[in-house]
Amino acid sequence: MNAPVADQVRLTEIFLSLQGESTSVGLPTVFVRLTGCPLRCQYCDTEYAFHGGTVTDNAEILEQVAACGVRHVTVTGGEPLAQPGVLPLLRALCDAGYAVSLETSGALDTAAVDERVRKVLDIKTPGSGEVRRNLWSNLDHLNPGDEIKFVICDRQDYDWARLKCDELVLWSRPVEVLFSPSAGQQNATELADWIIADRLPVRLQLQLHKLLWGDEPGR
Ligand code: SF4
Repeated sequence: MNAPVADQVRLTEIFLSLQGESTSVGLPTVFVRLTGCPLRCQYCDTEYAFHGGTVTDNAEILEQVAACGVRHVTVTGGEPLAQPGVLPLLRALCDAGYAVSLETSGALDTAAVDERVRKVLDIKTPGSGEVRRNLWSNLDHLNPGDEIKFVICDRQDYDWARLKCDELVLWSRPVEVLFSPSAGQQNATELADWIIADRLPVRLQLQLHKLLWGDEPGR
């Protein structure tokens, strides 16, 4: 018998790697990459996940995750929240005892995401080309330990992000703020120097998986 639609997702890939981003960087992690995204950030490095994929029952995904044999699971995309089936999937992964994180664009509502999930929420900068898509009400659903990520494309983006952090009083929230240089656009050393000069309480994030394996899909 087929699973109900809500217990299925369109899946691009499942793979075991090291977490390349966030405060869990470097930990062996299973990545569950769902298909599809309503955004088109100019720096997107997962365009291969926009289309295709295979409709897969959540129970089968749990089996594949278990076969990888690690306790950290990241559900990513694309934009995972574009599919209703991701909500029961996240819940089931938490119920199974995994440390679960969700990478999301910040454009779709996170209100119904299981509270045990650590959200890594993007705030899209002007340089992304998708700044108008930020759903600011998502900031009301942040839990302690969640993370907010700005991908910085240039100095203008840096100044915008710094002011946004002030305006949204992100410094006083119990969340991590990550600044990540857009690959091939923003020099990482330059961004580090700006952060130090401004004594900005943000974490500079480099994409470890790209340093190790380049742009190879599934790594
Ligand atoms: S939200 Fe993420 S997956 Fe979607 S276009 Fe932007 S970078 Fe790519």
